[in-house]
Amino acid sequence: MERMIMNDHRRLGRELGIFDTDPLIGSGLPYWLPAGAAVRKAIEGYVYELERRNGYQHVNSPVLGKRELYERSGHWAHYAEDMWPPMRVGGEEFVLRPSLCPHHALICRSRPRSHRDLPLRIAELGGMYRSEPSGVLGGLSRVRAIQLNDGHVFCAPEQAAREVSAALDLIEAAHDRLGIQAARYRLSLGGEGAKFVDDPAMWARSESLLREVLAERGRAYDEEHGEGAFYGPKIDIQITDPAGRESTLSTVQVDYFQPERFDLRYAGGGRPVMVHRSVVGGIERLVAHLVEVHGGAFPAWMAPVQAVVLPLSDAERPAADEVLRRCLAAGLRAELAPADRGSLGARIRAHRLVPYQLVVGPREAASGGASVRMRDGSQAGEVPVEQLAARSRPFG
Ligand SMILES: [Zn+2]
Repeated sequence: MERMIMNDHRRLGRELGIFDTDPLIGSGLPYWLPAGAAVRKAIEGYVYELERRNGYQHVNSPVLGKRELYERSGHWAHYAEDMWPPMRVGGEEFVLRPSLCPHHALICRSRPRSHRDLPLRIAELGGMYRSEPSGVLGGLSRVRAIQLNDGHVFCAPEQAAREVSAALDLIEAAHDRLGIQAARYRLSLGGEGAKFVDDPAMWARSESLLREVLAERGRAYDEEHGEGAFYGPKIDIQITDPAGRESTLSTVQVDYFQPERFDLRYAGGGRPVMVHRSVVGGIERLVAHLVEVHGGAFPAWMAPVQAVVLPLSDAERPAADEVLRRCLAAGLRAELAPADRGSLGARIRAHRLVPYQLVVGPREAASGGASVRMRDGSQAGEVPVEQLAARSRPFG
């Protein structure tokens, strides 16, 4: 209970200057304050780089599309209750997109593809929108406008199992780097009713593929009916918040449905399989979780402020300004806490979550350096700021 109060991201997120909300903007529509925007940018850069190193090409696509696009994709028939109502402009209807998949399917279709172009791995950090009822909204974990880390792999059927497994590798690498522990893996299956495409043979095919990959990786998992996507089953990686509430962070899905709906082909008449995957899910839910996991003491590479420069007295201010300038030039997110903000001890306490605390006394001012105090209170001595910067990158 105490941990829940301590690390509820809604309280801590506001205290740390991560995000806030305004009734005039609306519920479920938080905005990002400077510290939150910095954390988010660091994570986005890391995920972009992770994907780039693993064969993904990044694209950008609009956050809305014509109603016909979602009729074609199947969202209109199976997912309409989670979508925003259409907007009418110039005799046409547009909707805020409920997912990035249809845009990516069209990007795949926009150029002729041959078997040797596959797998085609497309990724985007893009907006998507859900018409969540206002009663369930709060903080960053459930929002109406989501920045989703999304990606789609278009591959030949015989490549699909390997691509699913590769996506799980990416997810596990990212969780490790972010400091996230999965609560459990869940195989989310289809169910009865209009929420799912009615094609038992297709479901059986994608389900057996996911089971095969999970078995091969030796990963324990639970299964749940009725939690799949409307077009196919998913491997969901679940996380829990300090109150024990569970949600899905990362996901990998196999889809034979949308390639058919969009008539995707590669030379020779083959129909690609679409592997949907999100390495870290929506940025809002991810940062909410990270705030709770780390209690605001983020790993150095994603900390909103990585270094604080602390002149012992006003006499060291010019030297401290120079240290700050060098920190910023080296790529560190850094700030100065001058002597008029209180005693050194008080300033250190005010910046206790900052990974590197750079103290500039008369000796350091003379040498042009700074003595580095780590967040845990240990002393690292005089470390060049370039070395601190090199230590504070997600890939080292
Ligand atoms: Zn998708």
